[in-house]
Amino acid sequence: MAFGNIHWKGPVGRRMVAFTFDDGPHPVHTPRLLEILDASSAKATFFMTGTNAAAHRELVRDVAARGHEIGCHSFDHCRTRTLLALPERQLREIRETNEIVEAITGKPVTLYRPPYGLVSPLLLPVCLKLSLKIVLWNINSYDFRREPCSIIVARVLKRLADGAILLFHDCHYSDATIDYSTTASVIERLLAQCSSAKLESVTVSRLLERRGVCP
Ligand SMILES: [Zn+2]
Repeated sequence: MAFGNIHWKGPVGRRMVAFTFDDGPHPVHTPRLLEILDASSAKATFFMTGTNAAAHRELVRDVAARGHEIGCHSFDHCRTRTLLALPERQLREIRETNEIVEAITGKPVTLYRPPYGLVSPLLLPVCLKLSLKIVLWNINSYDFRREPCSIIVARVLKRLADGAILLFHDCHYSDATIDYSTTASVIERLLAQCSSAKLESVTVSRLLERRGVCP
C-alpha cells in the first residue's frame, strides 16, 4: 500500500513480509539479529542513523554482505529537525548519511525512514530529489516498551499477514546501553511462525517490487 512515494505495506499475493530494524547498528544486538536471520535464511532491512553507521562501519559492511538491505534513518535522529529543518538542511544530512553507508557497502541507499515516522511536507521534495522511497510500517512491535517477549510476539501475531512491513529496533537512538536483547528472542519466534505460515522474510525493496500482483 502506498501514497505517492510513501509506503507502509507491500502488495498482497506473494507471501512476503519485511522485518525492519531502526536506529542501529548496535555492537551487541545487531550481530545477534544477523545470526538469527541467517539461521532462518531470512532477509531484513536495517534503517541506520548516520552517527551509528559511522561508529560501527564493520557492522554496516557485515549487514550488507549477508544480503540485507540498509536504509537511511536520518543522520542523528533529531525530532525537531525531522519536522522543521529546511529542505536544504534535510537533504544535506540524508545525503551525508547515505554517503557513509554507500562508501562502506558500495550499494546505493534507496529507502528513507524518517525518525518517529514523521513525514513533513518539507521532506517529500527532498526524498524525490534523492530518489528515496519513504518507508513507514503497518505493524509496530512497540519493542521499545521493553515488555516480555511473549507480549510483543502476541501483539505482532495478531496482525501478521502477507505484505506486512514490521517495525523493530536493534538500538535506542540515543542510548546504546538500553537492552534490546528481547527483540532478538521475539524475531526468533516470529520467524518460526512465518515459516509455518509460508511467509518469506524479504528486504523492503524486494517486498515493494511490482510483479503483476494486486496493489
Ligand atoms: Zn528511530
